[in-house]
This record gives sequence, C-alpha cells and structure tokens, in this order.
Amino acid sequence: MNIVVVGAGFSGAVIGRCLAEAEFKVTVLDSRDHPAGNCHTERCQETGVMVHTYGPHIFHTDNQRVWDYVTSFGEFMPYRNQVKSTVGAAVYSLPINLHTINQFFGKTFDPQQARAFIETTQADTSIADPQNFEEQALRFVGPALYEAFFKGYTEKQWGCAPSELPASILKRLPLRFNYNDNYFAHQYQGIPKDGYTALIENILDHPGIDVQLSTPYTRAHAEHAEHVFWSGPLDGYFGEKLGRLGYRTLDFERFTKTGDWQGCAVMNYGDPDVPFTRITEHKHFAPWEEHEGTVCYREYSRSCGPNDIPYYPIRLVQEKALLSHYEALAEAEEGVTFVGRLGTYRYLDMDVTIAEAMTHAETFLAKHGAAAS
Ligand SMILES: Cc1cc2nc3c(=O)[nH]c(=O)nc-3n(C[C@H](O)[C@H](O)[C@H](O)COP(=O)(O)OP(=O)(O)OC[C@H]3O[C@@H](n4cnc5c(N)ncnc54)[C@H](O)[C@@H]3O)c2cc1C
Repeated sequence: MNIVVVGAGFSGAVIGRCLAEAEFKVTVLDSRDHPAGNCHTERCQETGVMVHTYGPHIFHTDNQRVWDYVTSFGEFMPYRNQVKSTVGAAVYSLPINLHTINQFFGKTFDPQQARAFIETTQADTSIADPQNFEEQALRFVGPALYEAFFKGYTEKQWGCAPSELPASILKRLPLRFNYNDNYFAHQYQGIPKDGYTALIENILDHPGIDVQLSTPYTRAHAEHAEHVFWSGPLDGYFGEKLGRLGYRTLDFERFTKTGDWQGCAVMNYGDPDVPFTRITEHKHFAPWEEHEGTVCYREYSRSCGPNDIPYYPIRLVQEKALLSHYEALAEAEEGVTFVGRLGTYRYLDMDVTIAEAMTHAETFLAKHGAAAS
C-alpha cells in the first residue's frame, strides 16, 4: 500500500516511520525546504549558535513511551526552562513563585505567609466561578500581579482583551509558594543535542520512506495513494471554502551580538507599551555549547494573514463554530486522516503531537491488518 504523508514535522515523521516499519511504502511531502516543521533548528552561519527558527522549543513530558521514542532517535541534553519577565523597571522570575511575590511586594514571606497574603489581601474571592481569563487571574492572583504579569502580555499575545479569552488558558492555581522556577513540571525535560531537525531526519531515515521537500501537496499526489495523512492546515485542505480559521502569527526580529546579551534564554516583556512579547537568546537553549557570538529574536504577535505562518489557533467562539463545519467535512472525507496541530486546529506540545501520531498510525495499522514492528 502506498501512503502519502503531508508534512515532515513530528506528526508526519512519526506516522511515516511507524507505517514504514510495518512495510508500507511511504512518501512524506513538505512544502518547506527542510524537515521538522515548526520545530526546525539550524546553525547560524555567522555565530555557530543552534537557532530555533520558528521559536524556541523545549521538550517536556511525563509520557514514558514518548520519551523512550525520542531518545532512541537522538541524544537529549538536560534543559530546565527558567523564564524571566521585565515589568516596569524590574526583572522578575516566572512562573510567579515565592521569589516573584517577595520581590514584587517587597516582603520576606515564607510559603505559608505568602499564601495567606495572596488569599486574604490580593485574590478576589467574590469571583466564585471565573468565566474568562481575566476573572480567573483576578480570582487567584489579584489585580496587582494580574496587571503586571498577565494583562499586557496576554493582550499582546492574543490581540484581544483577556476577558474575551477562556478561563482555561490560565491554570487553576497559577502561583507557586516556593522558589521553584522550573517553567515546566514534567518528569523529562531536555533539548536534542544536535537539534530537532537532526532528530526528525533520523526518524525519517528508513528505506520505506521517500521524503520530498519543497513539494507542496497537490491532489495529484493522492492519485496513487491508498491513504493520506494530512498534517497541513485543516481549512487549507478544503481550499478554505468555508472561510479561514483564525490564527496568531509571529514576527521575529533577529539580531546578532557578541557575548551574553541578556543572560537568559527567555525574557518576557509584560508592559503594554513594549510592542514585543519576549526576547529569546538562542545560545542559552544549548548551555553545553560555547559560542562567542549570540543570536536573539524579538518576538511580535499579530493576526495571521493568508501568506503568514499560522502559529497559535485562536479557538474563540467564532473560530469554534467554523471549526465544527470543517470537522464535519474532514469526517466525511474518505481516505484522509487529519493529524497534528494544523490538521486538528489545536495547540499541541511536541510530546502530545508524538503520542497522537503513534495512535493514528496504530489505529490505521489495526484496521489494515498490520502491526507496527
Ligand atoms: C512559537 C511556538 C513555540 C513552541 N514551543 C514548544 C515547546 O517549547 N515545547 C513543546 O512541546 N511544543 C512547543 N510548540 C509546539 C510544537 O511546535 C508542535 O507540537 C509541533 O510543531 C507539531 O508538529 P506537527 O507536525 O503537527 O506540525 P508542524 O511542525 O507545523 O508541521 C506541519 C508541516 O506541514 C507542512 N505543510 C503544511 N501544509 C502543507 C502542504 N499543503 N503541502 C506540504 N506540506 C505542508 C508544513 O510546512 C510543516 O512543515 C511550540 C509551538 C509554537 C508555535
């Protein structure tokens, strides 16, 4: 059986590999001139720094199977994401933790004192059932921390008022009453030593897989295929005939310097009058390497136009209504499985993307009487 997989990101690579191991003949297409999708990394010619071309990616998971899978295709180096935020004239530690609270309020609280302080003097307990992001933040952190760390950043990131966003974007308890500043809580955290592109090239390196880069999908590709796995945009598959699903896109203003420019990998900018959301300094994502030069990205978020790269699905009421129509079309489309972050119009972390890709491939194999080796 011939299979066409559209997209050489994690979704396409994992599905392609799984089917090739079960002796299917797989063609993986990507319109870009490189594999790895949005996780693509490449060395900067000028500085030698490994750059995360479409924004920084840190691998984090509790899924043992996914961790075993990725580490079988490439070496991972330990990496702990520690994010800072410049607000007004000060630099704070994120996620909001005991250090942030003590610095912000000029206190020396211990964990119990900090919790009592937030609960009794900051949190708006009159909000019993938060209906949106803003209410959720006011309910759990109160107006001062909300204004400093969430409001401006969120408005810049999403281009709308936080009161228009769902409460679920903010965790139920978005504060830590200890000094743990590890951004993620997962058991396994790291970054591939040779970058994501090398890792994904290894996944795709199988005699049963033909990778065709710089090759946008056309209907002609499907003519000789028994099945298509589509990890491109869901609305794009249908020629956007019902309208375009809304995304936020990112503009990266790249600059190179020498030495250590900002002293950390990620510096957020919460103030509304600063037009960018954050600056990332990519050498800090590979602390095991040494480079004299440095590469930084100033990151701006805006509404995604027809020729922009779709990054974050918006998924507000209007988009969800349109999504349900596209989902119905996708359901009715024979011989095509819609996968991944674009194919299902969801924000997916890499580990979830990989786990879902494995499930899609295994479901397909179970249906077609083959088993993954
Ligand atoms: C800014 C940003 C930062 C992120 N950081 C993290 C992080 O730190 N940790 C984490 O776990 N996750 C992170 N993610 C999520 C991560 O990027 C996704 O989990 C992952 O990229 C999903 O892989 P995918 O294969 O589904 O999609 P993609 O990587 O987008 O791959 C889809 C591929 O399909 C190709 N394609 C689309 N249409 C066509 C077509 N018509 N013909 C041919 N090819 C086509 C595209 O060129 C693309 O290469 C981040 C996402 C963003 C936006």
